[in-house]
Amino acid sequence: MGLLAGGTSDLLIDGKLVGGGAGTFPTLNPATEEVLGVAADADTADMSRAIEAARRAFDDTDWSTNTELRVRCVRQLRDALREHVEEMRDITMAEVGAPRMLTSGAQLEGPIDDLAFSADTAESYAWRRELDDAAPQGIPTRRTVAREAVGVVGAITPWNFPHQINFAKIGPALAAGNTVVLKPAPDTPWCAAAVGQIIAEHTDIPPGVINIVTSSDHAVGALLSKDPRVDMVSFTGSTATGRAVMIDGAATIKKVFLELGGKSAFIVLDDADLGMACSISAFTAAMHAGQGCAITTRLVVPRAKYDEAVAAAAATMGGIKPGDPTNKRTVCGPVISARQRDRIQGYLNLAIEEGGQFACGGGSPADRDKGFFIEPTVISGLTNDARVAREEIFGPVLVVIAHDGDDDAVRIANDSPYGLSATVYSGDDARAQAVATRLRTGTVNVNGGVWYSADAPFGGYKQSGVGREMGVAGFEEYLETKLIATAAN
Ligand code: NAD
Repeated sequence: MGLLAGGTSDLLIDGKLVGGGAGTFPTLNPATEEVLGVAADADTADMSRAIEAARRAFDDTDWSTNTELRVRCVRQLRDALREHVEEMRDITMAEVGAPRMLTSGAQLEGPIDDLAFSADTAESYAWRRELDDAAPQGIPTRRTVAREAVGVVGAITPWNFPHQINFAKIGPALAAGNTVVLKPAPDTPWCAAAVGQIIAEHTDIPPGVINIVTSSDHAVGALLSKDPRVDMVSFTGSTATGRAVMIDGAATIKKVFLELGGKSAFIVLDDADLGMACSISAFTAAMHAGQGCAITTRLVVPRAKYDEAVAAAAATMGGIKPGDPTNKRTVCGPVISARQRDRIQGYLNLAIEEGGQFACGGGSPADRDKGFFIEPTVISGLTNDARVAREEIFGPVLVVIAHDGDDDAVRIANDSPYGLSATVYSGDDARAQAVATRLRTGTVNVNGGVWYSADAPFGGYKQSGVGREMGVAGFEEYLETKLIATAAN
């Protein structure tokens, strides 16, 4: 049977595909505003059953200790997803508005392949290691450090890169021996529900090990942060919601893992190829309509070359026309919803109120009467104090800011409540490295390098998050540490 046959999707609870207690809710194509179909709308009773199933699978089965089973199941999931990749691609373009070209990378195929990293890590991981011989308090003791799964993980995810974020949580959490309840964003229920159907119909993952609960009601997801049966919440989304998750998790002292917002800087030093660097910055800021947490949305350039930099950025960004995501040449599709479009437009209006100018863009494209589109926009004439330079806009909007040398560029980049990512361009690699070292961010690209990869840890400093996703560090987020001290005779 095809995925989501009949234009409706189910919840996955305790190994079964089931309807939602609150009925269904529609999911839209943001490029056309058409209703694609409906998703099961879970209520709090559904979420409670999903948590119970995950708890049982963790406490009463050998899932957490049977590494061979887990490695096989995660590889099987990757293979099953690959077999359905074209159906998944269609769903992703339609529901997320993700440009086709991105679905062969971070929007779909990359994250599917990255599941192999989680399986490989679990297979080769040193689950137990011995400390050196010692005699604490005079008692000769053999000491073993054991790494074990945390338990039941509640995974709460956003809509912008749904597969990347869902798999970067499911993969390591399952491979490490946890059981999972995944609550995807209400804007992209089908991306997750399709995975639920594939798990139920094409894998041996035991019932309850992974549960997928779509809901139109944020409060249903909030149960994951509050319920004492959940050991850890792994959240990706806005900083405001992350704060709420942390507060809710405090009551039961949950382990809380957070990947949050960003306002990352793209620093061009005065010896760099200015035109090339600004053009790359502009292209990146327009990609997927700017809906990426780690996208560099502040272009920080030498004051003496400010006008030249604005012109170079505007030449690239103004040349990128928002378009049909299914077209293989489209870089910038729609934003996810009318709400997001209106929010972005509010920030564009604010930029003018704050004294800025548009070097290109500034509104919705005149040639599109359907869909939630925003023109790629370059804002000039503002300092880093402007709200549009400080707050996350989450649209194809680049603010160009002048700096007065390397120290000032570092100061501006770090003058943000966020600390997710950054880019540095310089003609001198050592000089770029010196700047990179001083940046308070979880990742830095230097002179065209790329931080994103399955084995590379990703995450934020400051209000961009707590913990690291991907890489071995991302796997270990889902582990507890136990010290076993045995008297040595
Ligand atoms: P959001 O914070 O509005 O929602 C994220 C998820 O949280 C959704 O599933 C939503 O239903 C759920 N949610 C809402 N209120 C909740 C509550 N009180 N308790 C528990 N769950 C709740 O974010 P969004 O608009 O879906 O996504 C965009 C945001 O995500 C941006 O801020 C972006 O920077 C961030 N993001 C961060 C990363 C990262 O890795 N750092 C990656 C992608 C997106």
